Amino acid sequence: MSEATLISPEPITPSNGALLEEPRHLKPPASPDALEHMQLVQGEFWRSIPAYQDIDEATFLNHLWQYQHSVKTPDELLNTIQALAPAHFIDDVRAGFHRAPMNVRVSPYMIACIDWSRPYTDPIRTQFIPLASRLVPDHPKLSLDSLHEQEDAPVPGLVHRYVDKALFLPTNVCPVYCRYCTRSYAIGGDTEVVEKAEVATDAKRWQHAFEYIASRPELQDIVISGGDAYQLPAKSLKKIGDALLDIPNVRRMRFASKGPAVMPMKIMSDAAWTDALTSVVERGRSMGKDVMLHTHFNHPNEITWITAKAMNVLFERGIMVRNQSVLIRGVNDDKHVMRLLVKRLGYVHVHPYYVYMHDMVKGVEDLRTTVQAAVDIEKFVRGSTAGFNTPTFVCDAPGGGGKRDVHSYDYYDRVNGIAVYSAPSVKPGQWFTYFDPIEALSPEAQARWADPQAHAEMIAAAVEKANAAA
Ligand SMILES: *Cc1c(COP(=O)(O)O)cnc(C)c1O
Ligand code: SF4
Repeated sequence: MSEATLISPEPITPSNGALLEEPRHLKPPASPDALEHMQLVQGEFWRSIPAYQDIDEATFLNHLWQYQHSVKTPDELLNTIQALAPAHFIDDVRAGFHRAPMNVRVSPYMIACIDWSRPYTDPIRTQFIPLASRLVPDHPKLSLDSLHEQEDAPVPGLVHRYVDKALFLPTNVCPVYCRYCTRSYAIGGDTEVVEKAEVATDAKRWQHAFEYIASRPELQDIVISGGDAYQLPAKSLKKIGDALLDIPNVRRMRFASKGPAVMPMKIMSDAAWTDALTSVVERGRSMGKDVMLHTHFNHPNEITWITAKAMNVLFERGIMVRNQSVLIRGVNDDKHVMRLLVKRLGYVHVHPYYVYMHDMVKGVEDLRTTVQAAVDIEKFVRGSTAGFNTPTFVCDAPGGGGKRDVHSYDYYDRVNGIAVYSAPSVKPGQWFTYFDPIEALSPEAQARWADPQAHAEMIAAAVEKANAAA
């Protein structure tokens, strides 16, 4: 470093009056992009949306108003954004709705976080509002319940797949519906193309789940997942939390909710819900049991001053929040965007826990990306902030092997897009395969996937290489 780039701060005068020696190896000032994660959207940003022009802060920060004005149909979208997006965009949305496996439900908060000057490429629009023009054919190896959760459910809505942890699905509604939902077999109402399995709210079904958990001493860790804990009335949340805390073998619980990402104001305006969560966390703490909130932010634009305020309420109450993102093409499959997301999450006291490879679910092939992309992004992100705020990038390939570190594949055929994983302590001796989206492959590889006869051979060849490497 040349002398000229050194900055000389004011000399520090300690209380004894002696001048400290000037620091010698001073770093140059941080570049502006090292500070970008702290620059959250401020003010009444929603007023740029025609339908919210006259909405004051008190109204916008009310979760009931947010629910009541959530956009569920193309007409509601049109009435909300009016001339902000071109007519051909709305037509594209109409056609997209007819072909989507998920319901649509977008909070005014999310609508206001979308940059309507570029609706086709906006990362938030991409997650929640389907466009017919963007749909691409599915990979031939996709299925609707790609994780086969229904096969590992001893009681409906309770998935006990791994030894010490289970997934409890108390409800099938969410504060928003994500196009890429891994539980698109069950979540939300039936759409024109999918009839949903029954995991609706039901106290008797819950009781069966609790009895099963109590009967399995190895079960220590319960994920209360989606559906979404945000949609549980405060009373139900407390009932579930207390019932699980009362089971001696349960040591850890996580309530999973997309809510903080799509409707952070509820943490402030629904005092009964936040207090119910707080009471379960505090009761757990008094019993030596760990209760946390897991959430799901995917893009830095989802984090505004409202998020920071809401997360601070939880922080003050000692409620830890962890984040699980999904790696989504056109949303966060860019290394700079992912780094910004990770740093911004840390900034608002949310610990980035996982970034998942997009599950191989049908109907959203435009959203998947390759294992190679995940490996590259992970490499870029690691080292940019504290290690405990650095997420693990994982692939939950079909077959029940669980979440595997993305770059721990035993073999990766990059040409045909086949990553082969093993899970020695989960299912020893078994191989699990993840397929890159067809669009990302060369024309030759695409032609091979177009021929059903070639599939088994390509997969067997990759597994054989994995076997040889093992
Ligand atoms: C993801 C998952 C869990 C929790 O896994 P962690 O790696 O501990 O976060 C538990 N059960 C099932 C079925 C899961 O898919
Ligand atoms: S919030 Fe979670 S469970 Fe609900 S639709 Fe989105 S991904 Fe699926």
